[in-house]
Amino acid sequence: MAITARVKASDNLWFDVSADTEPELFKQVARVQEVFSVAKCGMCGCKDVKFVVRTAAKKSKWLEVVCQDIGCKAKLVYSTTEDNNFVYPKIRWDHLSDAQKEQRKDEQEYAEKHNGFLPNNGFFKFKSS
Ligand SMILES: [Zn+2]
Repeated sequence: MAITARVKASDNLWFDVSADTEPELFKQVARVQEVFSVAKCGMCGCKDVKFVVRTAAKKSKWLEVVCQDIGCKAKLVYSTTEDNNFVYPKIRWDHLSDAQKEQRKDEQEYAEKHNGFLPNNGFFKFKSS
């Protein structure tokens, strides 16, 4: 018998998940909470955040959550696992690619002092260096 649950990710985003076993339901709830529970911008606190997909030059797509505050526009970037089945928000220093580490090197010291976690819940403003 399927067990269903309604998971609130943010004020305007809900998910209905369903599974045959408790461990499977647990996994699904965890996925929703890890990937989609972005209720506000980690930089300015604005609750108006938007999920955005941009197609990059090659085969890949950029998945981002972008703050809609016009004075902020900070974003949280996501990564896709190699098998393309899962995505996760880049909230830790070791999630960043080498190019991202270079671009965001001013966040490294914070991460080292906070068990590897990036400042502002992973939100950052694009810096042209
Ligand atoms: Zn913001």
